Amino acid sequence: MNITGQTKLVGVFGYPIGHSVSPQMHNAAFEHLGMDWCYLPFAVAPDNVATALRALPAQGVVGVNVTIPLKELALAAVDEVVPPANLVGAVNTVHCRDAKLVGYNTDVAGFTRSLAEAGEDLRGRTAVVLGAGGAARAAVVALAQMGAARIWVVALQVELERGARTAELARRADRGAVGAVIEWKRPALRAAVAQADALVNATPIGMYPHHEQPAPVPASWLREGMLIYDMVYNPSDTRLLVAARRRGCRTLGGLRMLVLQGAESFTVWTGRRAPTDIMQEAVARALAK
Ligand code: NAP
Repeated sequence: MNITGQTKLVGVFGYPIGHSVSPQMHNAAFEHLGMDWCYLPFAVAPDNVATALRALPAQGVVGVNVTIPLKELALAAVDEVVPPANLVGAVNTVHCRDAKLVGYNTDVAGFTRSLAEAGEDLRGRTAVVLGAGGAARAAVVALAQMGAARIWVVALQVELERGARTAELARRADRGAVGAVIEWKRPALRAAVAQADALVNATPIGMYPHHEQPAPVPASWLREGMLIYDMVYNPSDTRLLVAARRRGCRTLGGLRMLVLQGAESFTVWTGRRAPTDIMQEAVARALAK
């Protein structure tokens, strides 16, 4: 990489940030397209996120991604919010435009596009979303927008308020989706999974370095023909996905969503179409290390 006075800067804010593979993903795309751009990681503590974002336009930085645990704080810090980030209640991409901070949520498009690419159509279907955080809310908005008939959000008991907010989102998010929140307790969860056409894991359960922990639901609950979507991308093949394939389910992992949300951010900043295959190869290489 040849960084000069002309090089345009983008990056990612997170805390911690050492695990992020976004620098490899975006820098591979810039290199492939011969663009004089550079993507850097920044460890920004939650207390500093508003100050750090506000400083970007003055430094000529084009924009940043924002990751765990800063996405909700970023929503509050930006000057303008582009739908559906307002619905999700989280911003994962910031673009510095005319000295203003414009916030986007590209997780929704990443999730939707990954399903479309795989030929999955959840119109009129019942989906169970495990988790009640930012990724769960992105899934709920996407599912509602694609016309899922029923969306159940499964939240830990302590998460009921957050869970209820996420379920309310499903009720509001148009196209008549019916949302409900279910406590993370065995009988209710089992009954929901039994009726689901699709199960989405939007919790960190199964993520490295806890990849050996049990899958979020027992394998025996999964039925042939169900779609199991695990947003976790490290490892790319989680215990949930392995069990689901054995049970005859269709499966999708989080890696493609990661690439496609990154591709949307790339386009927001550069106005160019992202080379998603190159980005995916770079992510796979980084995760294999
Ligand atoms: P988050 O805001 O921290 O939310 C995580 C949710 O999972 C919370 O509701 C949390 O409840 C719940 N949870 C955590 N551990 C749990 C457990 N053991 N049992 C039941 N529920 C549990 O995180 P996030 O941003 O939504 O991300 C969630 C996952 O999605 C992460 O693995 C992230 O890497 C992944 N993700 C992937 C992509 C992609 O592009 N593939 C994009 C975004 C996120 P508590 O708050 O009570 O702990």
